[in-house]
Amino acid sequence: MTLRSLPDRRPFLTAALALLTLTALAAGAISAEQRAKDLFGAKKLPAVAPAQSFGFYSKGCFTGGVALPMDGPSWEVMRPSRNRRWGHPAMIALIEKLARDARADGWPGLLIGDVSQPRGGPMMTGHASHQIGLDADIWLTPMPRRPLTFAERETMSATLMVDEKTHLVKEALWTPAHTRLLKRAASYAEVERILVNPGIKKKLCDTVTGDRSWLRKIRPFWGHDYHFHMRIGCQPGSPGCKAQEATPDDDGCGKPLAWWFTEEPWRPNKNPDAPKARDLMTMANLPRECQAVLAAPDAPSLEAVTYQSGGAAAVAAAKQEPTEPAEMISSGNAVLPAAASAFAPTPKIGIPVPRPRPGN
Ligand SMILES: [Zn+2]
Repeated sequence: MTLRSLPDRRPFLTAALALLTLTALAAGAISAEQRAKDLFGAKKLPAVAPAQSFGFYSKGCFTGGVALPMDGPSWEVMRPSRNRRWGHPAMIALIEKLARDARADGWPGLLIGDVSQPRGGPMMTGHASHQIGLDADIWLTPMPRRPLTFAERETMSATLMVDEKTHLVKEALWTPAHTRLLKRAASYAEVERILVNPGIKKKLCDTVTGDRSWLRKIRPFWGHDYHFHMRIGCQPGSPGCKAQEATPDDDGCGKPLAWWFTEEPWRPNKNPDAPKARDLMTMANLPRECQAVLAAPDAPSLEAVTYQSGGAAAVAAAKQEPTEPAEMISSGNAVLPAAASAFAPTPKIGIPVPRPRPGN
């Protein structure tokens, strides 16, 4: 990938972002109190700069985003009107690779859900994470033989794979091909975690024979009953990207999984109307660089930043180079409001959170 071979430009990028931040602040264009989701949700195109993630999966943003093409030989983008098919070039390349490999494994093709907004950041609806271009949702419904129309991509329902009462996989729907798809995704070194419904994790724990080492990456979580969530690690060239905790070494099929089949995780939310983290998050809560990411100029066109296998879009994104070095800026240490404490990368056992609804 062209962008990854440019570590020597990093200080200049940081410097350029610092300048942009100062300019933006001086002009009063972005204030620290503004709601981050309003600003990031309004962006239609990525910031032109080498690919770089800032902050954490649930509190950050990124530059150098590229779009997954709406269609490929073995994938289709779902819910296109949301404009969430943007990611770090490494993520988009990996989605395309998974689509190819999965087809070779006998899965007809991938239906791709949300990746990120063009510049990441918190979203108007759904997801706490997906903010730094390194998360992607992939449906557990295989791609139909006939190409889907735009309208079908907006409205077609996904298949719920898990019984809502028992939290077990629906036996009539689960196939060995589902297992192979998850195993393939987990096989990539870049992939650090795959989130699935506890019922799906249990199904794998109960049925996978032979090599079980990949089960370590398969993590149970609320929701994720019609799609799985693939998360890759911080990429080279992103010194401001905050890594998540490593997963434990074992297959995760023991005690931690058993907890999901108790009553505790499914208790009704005591305070369902409490605002969600994304509703409270202001620019002050994000890394400081995110102000510059917002202020940076748009990519010249959608075509220029649509990923082409081989990195054409990445080359276009890298062409515009920052010019003047300046002082480095440090990430903001802003503290989140107490009500926004749902930012943990993994659930805090014993603290139920609202179950994310499908189709959100
Ligand atoms: Zn997700």
